[in-house]
Formats: sequence, structure tokens, C-alpha cells
Amino acid sequence: MQLKTHFALFDEGSKKEIRRAILKAVAIPGYQVPFASREMPIARGWGTGGLQLTLSIIGKQDVLKVIDQGADESVNAVNIQKLVNKTTGVATTIETGEATIIQSRHRIPEVPLTEKQIMVLQVPIPEPLRWVEPSEYKTKKLHAENDYSGAWLMLFEQIMKYGKTATNADHPVLVHDRYVMAPSPIPRFDNTKMHQSEALILLGAGREKKVYAVPPYTNVTSLAFDDHPFEVESFDGKHCHLCQATNVFMDELVNQDTGETYYQCNDTSYCLAELNEHEHVLEVAVEHAR
Ligand SMILES: [Zn+2]
Repeated sequence: MQLKTHFALFDEGSKKEIRRAILKAVAIPGYQVPFASREMPIARGWGTGGLQLTLSIIGKQDVLKVIDQGADESVNAVNIQKLVNKTTGVATTIETGEATIIQSRHRIPEVPLTEKQIMVLQVPIPEPLRWVEPSEYKTKKLHAENDYSGAWLMLFEQIMKYGKTATNADHPVLVHDRYVMAPSPIPRFDNTKMHQSEALILLGAGREKKVYAVPPYTNVTSLAFDDHPFEVESFDGKHCHLCQATNVFMDELVNQDTGETYYQCNDTSYCLAELNEHEHVLEVAVEHAR
């Protein structure tokens, strides 16, 4: 007996409904569009928002890459990738440059994205004003009235308390000079990659039933004060202990034996590509020396 399932798990009606929400999100950059979030074969909070976006836009020619905290190998990323592959048969990759759709949690890859790619980010809390206002009815009104004093107050309080803004991730951004948006828990380092991104960026929150977007070539500004400008995590003077890369987002690791700290690329496929490149250069050099 052969089991017949729909292409990309969903029936066509479901895909259409989600695509309509995506179109609206693209038309109003940074605006949170409600959608009928489906029950998925994975638990809410594990990327169901991103997964629903991926499944509704994916076509047979697409090549999919899934990352979790910068790693293609993490269990969650592998499982999502398997699920999409089994229900669509599309090719998967770890190479950022080869992918047409990249679904991710917590990171935007180091390799710059292009117009041919769509970045899908998994979002836990889509509402940047949620901490100041628990009522959805009221936050919708605040967005409509362009009243973002709550977001500014949050940053101001952090400066009063810590002498600087203390958002480690999910630092709020202003999109297309209109809507304040939660960029999802990406490090501040990745906020800058959203500004004038060549790739379409889609953000999906399954539990909160919201989809929003940053269309290609859109202005995305991280909220900051004139006397406290926005700063990204600094890796000055540091390099990856594997591939020697600098100017990338790195994890700080501790050598258990010596207690020394060292750094490693958070984006594992970038690190691997750099290592392969070094090896190739080395091979050519050896060849020349002969
Ligand atoms: Zn590296």
C-alpha cells in the first residue's frame, strides 16, 4: 500500500492561506500579520512558525538549508530538514550559497544572502512591546498609533541600570521607518544583516500565530539613542581557533584542562567552508613548491 500525502504536508488550502498572510506581511514591512497556525508534527516552541512558512513556499526546485544556533547538525535542525525532505523530496544542503530557502533559529548565516534566497526565521515572541503591554488589543493600538515609547523606555532603563543597552539578542528594530519589530532572538551582530538585505526575510511565530517580513532592500534600523549608539557584539582581536576567521559571530569556549578561553565560529558551515578553502590553498602551494 502506498501512503498518499500532500506535497509539503499541507493541503493546498492551508498553503494558500499562509501565502496570503506572507503576501500581506511583505506588503507592510515589519507588520505582524495574524494567521491560522496549524497543528504540526513537532511541538509549538520548536520552530512550528518557521516550518509552516517553509512548507507553504517551498517548490520542487528549491534547495533547503536548516540551522539552529548556527549549526546544521543540531537535532532540531536535522529533524526539521528531514520532515521537509520527506514530504517534498527537495534537496537539502549545508552550504549557504547553494540554498534557496534557509530556515533558522537564532542566526543569519555569515555568507551574505542574495536575491535568489529566502531567509525564514523561527520566532518565539513576535511582539516587541509585549514586556510593557500584555494585552494584544492594546499593543495593536500602539503599533497603529506609532507609539513606541515603551520600546524606548526599555532601552532607556537598561542604560540607566547598566550604562548601556543590555539586549543580548532580539534588540528591537525599526523597519521601513514605520513598524518596530522583534528581529527574533538573533544576536545584535545579525541585526545589521537585515538592513538592505538582498534576500527576502520571513519571520514566523507558530505559538503566537503571527507572520511578518522584511522585503529585500528595506531599511532596518536598530533602536538606539544619539548618545548611546547601537553596538554589536565585539570580537576585536579574536579569531576562530579552527579556521582563523575574524569578523564573524563566535562562541566563547573554555579549555577544561588549562582554563583558557578560545573562540570558534558559531556558523558551523561557514567554518567548514573556510577550512576547506585553507586546505585547497595549502594544496596549491605544495603543488607549486614541487
Ligand atoms: Zn571558524
